[in-house]
Amino acid sequence: MPRATVCLSFDFDAVSPWVLGDELSPTQLSRGLFGARTGVPRILHLLEEYDVPATFFTPGHTLDSFPDRSREIVEAGHGVQHHGWSHTPPSAFDSRAAERADVERGIESIERVTGERPTGYRSPSWDLSEHTLDILQELGFDWDSSGMATDYTPYYLREGWAAPADDVYDPGTETDVLELPVSWKRDDYPAFAFRGGELWGFADPARVVENWAAEFDWMYDTVEGGVYTLTMHPQVSGRGQILPHVETLIEHMRSKPGVAFRRMDDVAREFRG
Ligand SMILES: [Zn+2]
Repeated sequence: MPRATVCLSFDFDAVSPWVLGDELSPTQLSRGLFGARTGVPRILHLLEEYDVPATFFTPGHTLDSFPDRSREIVEAGHGVQHHGWSHTPPSAFDSRAAERADVERGIESIERVTGERPTGYRSPSWDLSEHTLDILQELGFDWDSSGMATDYTPYYLREGWAAPADDVYDPGTETDVLELPVSWKRDDYPAFAFRGGELWGFADPARVVENWAAEFDWMYDTVEGGVYTLTMHPQVSGRGQILPHVETLIEHMRSKPGVAFRRMDDVAREFRG
């Protein structure tokens, strides 16, 4: 077992988030196109240069809209895992059936591009509905990457829990769906993406990536066998003011003995045993 594991993950949303709601405009759409046309090729080049594998959580909408670009990711040896078909936050579906249909459609899109059924899921919005875990189990998923109950240690999601306002928390029972935990502090979107309102995204890339490195160093020194997941988006970190700092981060992580960069499906498979 490596002393520390790094899971670089990219949510390859392309235009899918922009087509929901009332945000769609030619310019909003172009931000998603940047991810597909420019961000992903730059990221693939960087990953190849350092010979590190990554995991791309890719909505079916992206896979079906940009099949050639998606195949390049697969051919480079990276993992492609589930991120909804339509990038709809699970709680926004009208019904359990509608949520399940979207997940099933996403599975079909992944199978067309990779030839394999996805084993992992990451919720668009990092939130699960009351039905999501059940649906994931029905459809045979082994792992998820949307939760935050630990920081560097995979854990199993629980079902049947309850958190009433007027009684104690009931933890429910453990499922066999593994969680590879994420964090908003290890995500490029809140730091760098401009959405107006409360999300301006003008954080200093050097400082933010230094924080990512400092957190990695703490895990490396403190948590035996820790798994460090980092979430980025091609339309955000594929840009010229951020990607050089990501390169510096990869160099820093690689410089330490006992650090393994791995695909998340491989990490989940090994952890589940
Ligand atoms: Zn996304």
